[in-house]
Amino acid sequence: MDNLRLWHKFLETIKPNISPANFKTFFSKTLLKNVGEDKITLSTPHAFIKETLNQRHLPLIESTFENLLGKKVNIELIVKELEASPKDEGEEDFFQPVQTVTTILNPKYTLSNFVVGPSNNVAFAAAQAVVQNPGTSYNPLFLYGGTGVGKTHLMLGIGNALLSKRPQMKVIYCSSEKFMNDYVTAIQQHKMGDLRSRYRMADILLIDDIQFFSGREGTQEEFFHTFNELQSKNSQMVLTSDRPPEEIDKLEARLKSRFVGGLMIDIQPPDFDTRVAILRAKCLEQGSVLPEDSLKLIASSLDSNIRELEGKLIQILQALKAKSLPPEPENVAEFLNHSPKKALITSYKQVLSTICTFFNISLKDLTGPKRQKGLVLPRHITMYLLSEELSLTVEKIGEVLGKRDHTTVMHGRDRIKKLITTDREVQKTLLEVKQKMFLST
Ligand code: ADP
Ligand code: MG
Repeated sequence: MDNLRLWHKFLETIKPNISPANFKTFFSKTLLKNVGEDKITLSTPHAFIKETLNQRHLPLIESTFENLLGKKVNIELIVKELEASPKDEGEEDFFQPVQTVTTILNPKYTLSNFVVGPSNNVAFAAAQAVVQNPGTSYNPLFLYGGTGVGKTHLMLGIGNALLSKRPQMKVIYCSSEKFMNDYVTAIQQHKMGDLRSRYRMADILLIDDIQFFSGREGTQEEFFHTFNELQSKNSQMVLTSDRPPEEIDKLEARLKSRFVGGLMIDIQPPDFDTRVAILRAKCLEQGSVLPEDSLKLIASSLDSNIRELEGKLIQILQALKAKSLPPEPENVAEFLNHSPKKALITSYKQVLSTICTFFNISLKDLTGPKRQKGLVLPRHITMYLLSEELSLTVEKIGEVLGKRDHTTVMHGRDRIKKLITTDREVQKTLLEVKQKMFLST
């Protein structure tokens, strides 16, 4: 088999095993560079991709090649050499501001107060990579994910970090609406020149919620030229969207392909532990401390939207203060929509039935003694969810899962906990199950 055929075979084999977004980001621009006696060299477009492949996908890459070649091989990952960019030579000149603009970004959002967990660690690493090396290799950085998962925070964190490194830099942050309105106003007032010089002088352009460009042809046209100009002078762009470019309706193909040509990273809703960590951090920012159990209670009351989670926390802190109540879980529970006990009773059944529907298995099989592979993963996921999302005790979980021993439950739960950090597929399955679970309650 020649290298090209081997690489195509490889891609075909792994494609069903990872999410489309991961496939696109980490594999579609990676190439098979060399096949040696016992070493295979893959060439990646960015250092960041290399690191992520190394950390997350190496076992999959190794075993896939082993299957295809019938022998064990070592995998070497290298970064394709980038063409020297003008920035490398005249960096200082490049950053001389053309006009002095003081940029004010909301200083509340920084990289250092962004809480990192399995749902957002890839995006966070990408943000750091952009700050270290703006404009050259990860351009644009395209962050996408649902509402309130931290896209704007991370984008402004990048802007603030770059500004603190180089206060002279011209950083423009704007919502996509602002860009659209500026465009419309510029046309009406015959001031396209002003608009162009404003945006095209940016060293860093941050545009939030770009999905709203959908259907706005004139805006897209203008942005396309802005984009090209900024990219050609190595000005970093960071874009956010609630969905990946290919899913944005009525977005010009040439823009889509520009976006896809950068680094696209998704941010997932935070898991339970990350929600607790975020609440802990937000409490400290407010100058308050809540007991761990109170934090957990709040974290289990809301699933995906961190903005709402934060709102709830602040509401609770104020209410406790107004009523001079100690911040114990009993008091916190009063301010959550439901009494926690009732929620537990109604929802563990919900979890079991959601799992059964999702994996297409019967409740009898899920709770029964059979140990087939197709039953073990759903069972372990159930253990994890009942423990992490509903805070049931391991004894109770064992009981509802067909009188299993609590050590079995602990083992299953911990296995999933571990897999979440290493296996994006398990992470994705969990999210889908959770979404179904919360939609059906
Ligand atoms: P999005 O733009 O994805 O809708 P935001 O960036 O506006 O979400 O985040 C919503 C709120 O949640 C903000 O107050 C933000 O500070 C907070 N937040 C989101 N993710 C994190 C995180 N990982 N660490 C700390 N705060 C976060
Ligand atoms: Mg936002």
